[in-house]
Amino acid sequence: MPGSEAPRPPGVERLLSAVRPRLAGERDHHALLAAAHELVDAERGRIAGGGAWRDLPALADDLVARLERLADPLGSGLVRVINATGVILHTNLGRAVWPAAAIEAAGAAVAGYTLLELDRGSGRRGARFRAAEAHLIALTGAQDALVANNNAAALVLAVGLAGRGGGVAVSRGELVEIGGGVRIPEIIRRSGARLVEVGTTNRTRVDDFEAALADGRARVVLRVHPSNFVIAGFTEAPDPKAVAALAHRHGAILVDDLGSGALLATEQYGLAHEPMPMERLAAGADLVTFSGDKLLGGPQAGLIVGRADLVARLRRDPLARATRPDKATLAALGATLGLYRAGLAQIDVPVWRMIAAGVATLRARAEAIRDGLPTRHRDTVSAEAMEATIGGGSLPGETLASFGLVIRAGSASRLLADLRRADPCIVARIADAAVVLDLRTVEPTADHLIGRAIARLVEP
Ligand SMILES: *Cc1c(COP(=O)(O)O)cnc(C)c1O
Repeated sequence: MPGSEAPRPPGVERLLSAVRPRLAGERDHHALLAAAHELVDAERGRIAGGGAWRDLPALADDLVARLERLADPLGSGLVRVINATGVILHTNLGRAVWPAAAIEAAGAAVAGYTLLELDRGSGRRGARFRAAEAHLIALTGAQDALVANNNAAALVLAVGLAGRGGGVAVSRGELVEIGGGVRIPEIIRRSGARLVEVGTTNRTRVDDFEAALADGRARVVLRVHPSNFVIAGFTEAPDPKAVAALAHRHGAILVDDLGSGALLATEQYGLAHEPMPMERLAAGADLVTFSGDKLLGGPQAGLIVGRADLVARLRRDPLARATRPDKATLAALGATLGLYRAGLAQIDVPVWRMIAAGVATLRARAEAIRDGLPTRHRDTVSAEAMEATIGGGSLPGETLASFGLVIRAGSASRLLADLRRADPCIVARIADAAVVLDLRTVEPTADHLIGRAIARLVEP
């Protein structure tokens, strides 16, 4: 460190001269300059804050490492997680894990050029890749289908059918927040339509819609599935068929937002019935909207199925262009829906595989992890029954009998944080002051990583 002068980091040019010979490939000068400036600025700040002075070779090492990280496909900071929360559709952890077929399809779609919007026969511009929409038509019995970026976008598009200033009638019991601060009244306002409130919070009857429709105030009736909450007690919701008949009598459009929507029957897994798009269409809904990455188990997308004339109107809406999914999403969605049509969804779609996993299997896995732990952990770690949930705005209050590990040792919140900081990152939860790791949401291939983390992090 030079004499009594305030220590300063080396200049950008000297740093770059030291780094350049160590870099593979021809690098853009401006990009290197920007990276070097960033490092030197940070270094100045560090030294000003009392940090130790570093010499040129140390800074050069740092810059090379930064550039390597920038070029590393997994270096973006999107940390892979072992989800041991037992919440299958964990919104903060990215909701649905894609099926292998979807990953492969998306990779193939983006690795080169595709016939995304080119008609093979004529060589002219054609309809945008239709596989996902064709699958949706086959799976739901709808006349037509359209894919948007997410279900919130699908909803904005659908209620936009009311036209500027047109009324959208919604039961007061369904004026909900769908997550992330997004609320149904705001969605309607942003679409340019006008909200017409109907009924009360706990009880809405078919007759309540009559007034809103009779004087033409409402051109759209929107039903919103209560997907992330339950209203219990003195409640009443109108029969979907009766609402549809009433809406049609007054020339209005019935839009049914299912949120999650299910293409497999949830009751076969001991869960409550989650509404299925096909049954809502059969009950008279003109359009049904649902998500791609909730119970469907594929990429983020908003799916609209229903009447051909209405879908055609939506397709022409400039907003449909502004919210259209990219080719990777379309390919992944098409592959995911293909698994449903092939009868493979409950095996090959991870969301359904997790829902379908038998408790006996989960128990055997939990016991195997526990039995593999060093003997000093035998008193603090046990394999126990627990309850998993679907999450992600699907089947609120419903649980699946599950099995996993319970750790009662020291501070639960500290262990939870240590697991999160471990490599790989493990996200668990706390119940009754113990750390709980539910195996229903863990891929079996990750079991040994959980055992290793416990052996290392838990103080016996
Ligand atoms: C989740 C949900 C949405 C929003 O779907 P995204 O795909 O997350 O945009 C809309 N409506 C309901 C009822 C929902 O549960």
